[in-house]
Amino acid sequence: MLIVQKFGGTSVANRERIFAVARLIAQAAKMGAQVVAVVSAQGDMTDELIERAIAINPRASAREMDAYLATGEQMSVGLLAMALEKLGYSAVTLTGWQAGLETDSVYGNARILRLGSDRIVRELEGGKIVLVTGFQGWNEAGDITTLGRGGSDTTAVALAAFLHADLCKIYTDVDGVYDCDPRNNPNAMKFDWLSYEKMRRLIAGGAQVLHDRSVEMAQQHGIAIEVLSSFTGNPGTIVCSETRRGD
Ligand code: ASP
Ligand code: MG
Repeated sequence: MLIVQKFGGTSVANRERIFAVARLIAQAAKMGAQVVAVVSAQGDMTDELIERAIAINPRASAREMDAYLATGEQMSVGLLAMALEKLGYSAVTLTGWQAGLETDSVYGNARILRLGSDRIVRELEGGKIVLVTGFQGWNEAGDITTLGRGGSDTTAVALAAFLHADLCKIYTDVDGVYDCDPRNNPNAMKFDWLSYEKMRRLIAGGAQVLHDRSVEMAQQHGIAIEVLSSFTGNPGTIVCSETRRGD
């Protein structure tokens, strides 16, 4: 069994959270699954990086911004690999380009085209937990590209599709998908499941729980996504097709 897990920025915001996530990954590995974990930059790191860049040059070229912004995710996977190592697990980190995630050349909003390398598969076969930086890939010119804000979700779904994963779990700081933002609305209602179409309508209406292209990609490849909390362990929300629901 192959599982793709994705952890958002709040899920890896500090030392304690990094160990909590390492334990979630370890749990899946202990059950015998091959695990690919996609990780976002810690907390507000991407915003901070953007602020620092603007202070230097508000009109920096898109190519340089992408190469620079991709570093937030590199820090996260590095720290997570060190945590797993400390817990006695063998993990390897791969950047978008090391993993072979090929994108178009729209810097700052690149679209994933294909997985052009078997590196992830080789590492899994070698018994490693594979930690992949979210939000990034590389283009024809061999340059680093980023996928747009929130794009780590799309990295996870793309890898689940290309690797034919059995499960794609998107861990976040809420228990699933709600009809409105549960962080500032106490009456928000959680969905047990919802269709790709409904999810896309929620995103069009402003919901930020998933990157829009991740749902597009999931629908294209028939990947069921589970959105759940890395904090609570409660069951999440499944986003899938109407027909898949009865499986
Ligand atoms: N770190 C990036 C962002 O803040 C990508 C992501 O979190 O999915 O937008
Ligand atoms: Mg997000």
